[in-house]
Amino acid sequence: MARVLVTDPIHDSGVQLLRKEHEVVVEELDAVALPRAMAGYEALVVRSRTKVTREVLSAGGRLKVVGRAGVGVDNVDTAAAKELGIAIVNAPTAATNAVAELAVGHALALARGIARLDGAMRQGRWEKKGSEGWELAGKTLGLVGVGRIGSRVAELARAFGMRALAYDPYVSADAARRMNVEKVDSLERLLEDADVVSVHVSLTPETKGLLDGKRIALMKRTAILLNLSRGGVVDEPALAMALESGAIAGAGLDVFSTEPLAPDSPLARLPNVILTPHVGANSREAQAAAGRIVAEQVLKVLRGETADFRVV
Ligand code: NAD
Repeated sequence: MARVLVTDPIHDSGVQLLRKEHEVVVEELDAVALPRAMAGYEALVVRSRTKVTREVLSAGGRLKVVGRAGVGVDNVDTAAAKELGIAIVNAPTAATNAVAELAVGHALALARGIARLDGAMRQGRWEKKGSEGWELAGKTLGLVGVGRIGSRVAELARAFGMRALAYDPYVSADAARRMNVEKVDSLERLLEDADVVSVHVSLTPETKGLLDGKRIALMKRTAILLNLSRGGVVDEPALAMALESGAIAGAGLDVFSTEPLAPDSPLARLPNVILTPHVGANSREAQAAAGRIVAEQVLKVLRGETADFRVV
């Protein structure tokens, strides 16, 4: 039996799963207390709050595995973990549907002006005139990145009667066909053709600023841009300019290059933008799945089995 420290709140189902095989301590520790506590544990489970530094990883000398209940491991020193031979596992599939549904929610809200009309009604205005929206049916979805989330968005969009194009140099035409999306080799062509552009890539040196001013300018004046991936993939000042000048019709954003978004950001003043505070993964179901999946991965490493989702 190993000892497992859970130092950020994860769903109880995950904790219960770990308890079936190991001794589990759930305790939020700060940056000073955590390294001191590490001598007592073989496994550490975190979300994004706890910074798993080299100091934390090397303290105590017993640690075998770190589990991140979620996807991004920006809060874990993965290079140090690799050097020290400590496994890092995560739960990359937990939020797939939650993010995809929120992306569709942003698209619907923009197409029908839901947030704007709601705001007007709360101020006593019945703005039926000038409220004409548009339908997703018959429109073209342009996916930038068609991995887990992008392909789920494509599935949902199909139910709305949309046609899906995808730009993803790492996905074969065959794989795209199996996902029922039409692969395009040029991002520029996708931007010219799509009515709804939805970005679902990770932030890498290659994707940083991928949607820059020049590319945004290729979009139709009636099109909307959704980014629920990572801030920094879309050039925010260029996007704000395109929205202000009417070069594109709207944007739905859940992620920002600086979070929280500065209250004086031009994006926060534009009426044709839907903003949510990086809540793509915040569904009850996704949080439960993150806890359960990360627990399964940690258990596999502790049993000496191969984890399904091993980052390092
Ligand atoms: P994934 O790895 O399954 O898919 C990413 C896809 O992007 C892959 O198919 C990859 O081939 C493709 N890609 C890589 N470079 C590309 C490029 N230059 N051009 C086009 N495509 C490229 O990841 P996922 O699980 O689908 O997640 C996608 C994004 O969503 C990630 O950035 C993730 O961090 C983000 N995310 C956001 C939230 C949220 O709360 N808003 C929650 C979970 C995930």
